[in-house]
Amino acid sequence: MTDRPAAPIAPNAPIAPLDPADWEEYRRLAHRMVDESLDYLRDVRARPVWQPMPGRVRTALTGEPLPRTGLGDEAAYADFVDLVRPYPNGNIHPRFWGWVMGTGTPQAAMADFLSSVVNPNCGGLEQAPVLVERQVVKWCAELMGFPADAGGILVSGGTMANVFGLAVARQQRAGFDVRAEGLQGKHPMLLVYASTEMHGWLKKACELLGLGNAAFRRVPVKDDFSVDVGAMAAMIRADREAGHRPICVMGTAGTVQTGATDDLVALADLAQREKLWYHIDGAFGAMARLSPETAGQVRGMERADSLAFDLHKWGYLPFDVACVLTRRDADLVETFSMQAAYLASESRGLLAKEGFNFFDRGIELTRSFKALKVWMMFRAAGTDAIGAHIARNVRQARRLASLVEAHPELELLAPAPLNIVNLRYAPKGAAPDVLDALNREILARLQEDGIAAPSGTVVRERFAIRIAVTNHRSEDADFDALVAAVVRLGGTIAAR
Ligand SMILES: *Cc1c(COP(=O)(O)O)cnc(C)c1O
Repeated sequence: MTDRPAAPIAPNAPIAPLDPADWEEYRRLAHRMVDESLDYLRDVRARPVWQPMPGRVRTALTGEPLPRTGLGDEAAYADFVDLVRPYPNGNIHPRFWGWVMGTGTPQAAMADFLSSVVNPNCGGLEQAPVLVERQVVKWCAELMGFPADAGGILVSGGTMANVFGLAVARQQRAGFDVRAEGLQGKHPMLLVYASTEMHGWLKKACELLGLGNAAFRRVPVKDDFSVDVGAMAAMIRADREAGHRPICVMGTAGTVQTGATDDLVALADLAQREKLWYHIDGAFGAMARLSPETAGQVRGMERADSLAFDLHKWGYLPFDVACVLTRRDADLVETFSMQAAYLASESRGLLAKEGFNFFDRGIELTRSFKALKVWMMFRAAGTDAIGAHIARNVRQARRLASLVEAHPELELLAPAPLNIVNLRYAPKGAAPDVLDALNREILARLQEDGIAAPSGTVVRERFAIRIAVTNHRSEDADFDALVAAVVRLGGTIAAR
């Protein structure tokens, strides 16, 4: 308590409502928003993939004083249309293949709208939205070959889903109660094993969870960019002999760099033999299980103790939504449950349930209803249709890889087993030391000219134009146009 006197209670002055002052007038604006949004999505192909922001836009978006007095709904929407909507990174476009991003669908955008209309708190409570999320998690478990009573929760992305997996591994295999003691006591060093191709989340997560970056044992990969399981086994043995405590074997279904998948069966056997937690990062690759054509690529994934995957990448759903599954529901509860008087179960009313709360299965208390867009998309389109698009993307990537291999001026820089193709322009006789700069320039021009948006990476010390296909709008002709543009730009730039 402070000894400052309480402010006097002000008399009721009239204030502007936050809900529409005139519902009919707002209805007209809302209908316009929907109509214009559907046009924007329908006509996406006619626009450049990406365009640089004009200076006017940058200034308007970064220098505006705090709006203490409102402009009104019409003006706020007009500024969105003018300043924001034309200048996103472009991942909804049929020729966007940068990093790994999904496209979203108009129907899922509407589901996001409906979710915000109802605006439930999906931390728990006796309500239909929580049952929707439980159902979605159950369907995800079935799709991934997990037991019917597996645990799971929807989170914001692959990073968070993986962090949850590592947190569970730490709790289940540390050999002491991490929740009670933390990592402050005198314990052996806890270690996790993953390949050098593991996505950057793991470094962050080891740091965040107090294991430290040194706890991430980086295992070399073979020529196909899959982890060397024999080397991993040897590292585990050596670390044990040195008095450390291995806790977790990690595999990747679809690495971010090349789309390689580790030998998930051999890793499962290793984890079992060594009694270690088995976590798989399946951010996009896990979705290969949705098609019989591609499911074989991720064989063994169903043996993981925990599995993280995005629905906003190869599930084509809008950001952000991902899922983490654990073999047992108790794995999550034992890691995340909280007890609080204000949330204790009651026999009736909102807290009267059979004891199922998502806040006992994750770190967040208040949670949005992101399950709705998944539930509606799965039910409206069917998961087989999503799988058919995934298989089509894999065929498109393979076709692109063979176009590259057949072209005398192009070079494939890594195997393309799934949906990622690394290529470069490398005409015969070109000096090797100029190829990196040349291809960086080609990539910048592809993006700046609004032709296509791949991203870049470095594969075995060579700069690659990297194409990741998680796009349900891409057609074969789009990849033909990409190949033609790379060769044309390469020729022009090399001639200078
Ligand atoms: C994208 C990705 C992640 C991170 O997922 P986000 O949804 O971006 O947080 C992790 N692992 C792999 C292999 C990825 O491709």
